Amino acid sequence: MKEYLRNTWLAIWTILIGMKVTFKHLFEPAVTIQYPDVRIPLPSRARNRLYVNIDDCIGCDQCARACPVDCIEIETVKALPTDDLGTTSNGKRKALWVTSFTIDIAKCCFCQLCVFPCPTECIKMTDVYEYSEYERENLIYQFSALTPGEAEEKKANYEKFMAEKAAAKEAAAKAKVQAAQKVQAKPAPKENTDEKKDENKDLDQQKNKSTE
Ligand code: SF4
Ligand code: SF4
Repeated sequence: MKEYLRNTWLAIWTILIGMKVTFKHLFEPAVTIQYPDVRIPLPSRARNRLYVNIDDCIGCDQCARACPVDCIEIETVKALPTDDLGTTSNGKRKALWVTSFTIDIAKCCFCQLCVFPCPTECIKMTDVYEYSEYERENLIYQFSALTPGEAEEKKANYEKFMAEKAAAKEAAAKAKVQAAQKVQAKPAPKENTDEKKDENKDLDQQKNKSTE
């Protein structure tokens, strides 16, 4: 009987010890919040999902080269002399079509190394941190403003322009060679022998007169 009472008391006592922390916080103000209805404001320098303002991107590739995990992929096409891409908001002239600009945010380690080298400050961290997806592919963000069709069109236009330029260069080189060959093939101008003979005759007559 004594043993039974002792065990009962021990059970009650250990429960009371376990509940001590619970009782301690029972009458204190709550520290938890009702997320997602209530959200704690993020620190101003928090690193979350990246964003690219593609209107200001000049396609220089510096952000992609700085990324330690290669999660930024950029494709560009040179603008034609007839294309006017305008300038960025800090006055840099745009000379490349950014046909594709993807960031695989699933690979991103939020180091922010891509942000600092950008000459137009168009890639930045946002305060968006809730972007979970069921499919991993959905975490690859495309920032290019061009549709795949438009991107293909830009590539085709540039290839056509380069082919025409190369053909014109080749034609000009050919014309130069032909002109040089024509000059070489032209016969040397003939001397007028009759006139020469008359001149010699006059000189002989003058000589004879002077000796007489
Ligand atoms: S934050 Fe770091 S890992 Fe993420 S894209 Fe930029 S450089 Fe790459
Ligand atoms: S560094 Fe800036 S301007 Fe250059 S490609 Fe990246 S986002 Fe665009």
